[in-house]
Amino acid sequence: METQAPRRSPWAAQALLALDREGRYRDTCGLDLRLTRAFGFCQGVQVAVARATRAAEELAALGKPASERPRLFMTGEIIHNPRTNERLAEAGVTILPQGNGLGRLAVVRPHDWVIAPAFGITAAEEAELERIGCRVIDTTCGWVRRIWQAVRTFSEDGLTTVIHGKVEHEETRATASRVAGAFVIVRNLTETQALAAAIRRAPLSPDGPRFADTFSGKCSPGFDPEHDLVRLGLVNQTTMLSSETEAIGEILRRAVDASPAEGHFRMLDTLCPATQKRQDAVRELLAGGALDAFIVVGGFRSSNTAHLAGLGVGRVPTYHVEDAACLVSRDEIRHLPPGGHEAAVSRGWMPPAPCTVGVSAGASTPQSEIEGFWLRLIALYRGEVP
Ligand code: SF4
Repeated sequence: METQAPRRSPWAAQALLALDREGRYRDTCGLDLRLTRAFGFCQGVQVAVARATRAAEELAALGKPASERPRLFMTGEIIHNPRTNERLAEAGVTILPQGNGLGRLAVVRPHDWVIAPAFGITAAEEAELERIGCRVIDTTCGWVRRIWQAVRTFSEDGLTTVIHGKVEHEETRATASRVAGAFVIVRNLTETQALAAAIRRAPLSPDGPRFADTFSGKCSPGFDPEHDLVRLGLVNQTTMLSSETEAIGEILRRAVDASPAEGHFRMLDTLCPATQKRQDAVRELLAGGALDAFIVVGGFRSSNTAHLAGLGVGRVPTYHVEDAACLVSRDEIRHLPPGGHEAAVSRGWMPPAPCTVGVSAGASTPQSEIEGFWLRLIALYRGEVP
């Protein structure tokens, strides 16, 4: 099925120009398309993708058969955007097997090249690559390094690090690995309340989950709630919701103050400005009201995209889509439901014209995909594509 809007449609150039210059395009069919004032690739992602692409080009330019030149690996997806990873794979980049152990690096030889992504790799992986002696193209973003510095300071000052993040996310795993002392990872407010209860030494409900159950696999080895929840420092995964990190900080601050032990709480401002700017821009667009639907474009595995979509949930019909092809038809949309892990197809997504549709895109979504999405959306409203 043809899902892309024709870029050469008479109205396409005019629409792209208006969206680029004014962040808004009103089509004669009655669609009013409004963009958030910030969206798409952040600088950290731009640099990471450019350096990975350049490395692939450099190897190809050696002019040797693939079997005679260094192999080019990535420790994982360079960013959470399927098309970008596919393009790098076509350019000859191989993603190493996934998992937590160092065994996944066993295929790397000293003459190979390995790309570390923008969200960083663990300290153990870094040491192992150094031991192997391969060339590492390190694209770790400066804002992620800033968090590593913060957790090192916490450890030096005897604080337990609390990371607001997703335990399975590469960035959170990399950050946790830089903590020299105790750490615990909280994903959301529910887990923070459980942590606050443990800080207050609140009696656990006989039926409720135990600390060890809630935080299994989410804290440092040998974590002892009795001793390790007295002095805390909070940082966050750069792509989490800033308002949630602030709420988590407030809960922990109150719990530490109420603790029978003399406690202390520190929160370092580790929010990434690009994430903050994109979240603020979504809040601004939503606050302007009058949206009939809100759609965010970005990989289904992209944490920052999911959080942008989360801001619209409950306020306006909101959809997190991966690309233009997710606009299956005027009736069907393929999207990631809020908090879900699997894409789903919903029906009746398209508000009838005249209507206003707000659009944003995550920090890992290339501009070409964003533009393809705009054009297909307009073409669907115009009835020019099925
Ligand atoms: S989202 Fe922020 S921390 Fe992550 S790569 Fe972009 S600029 Fe860096």
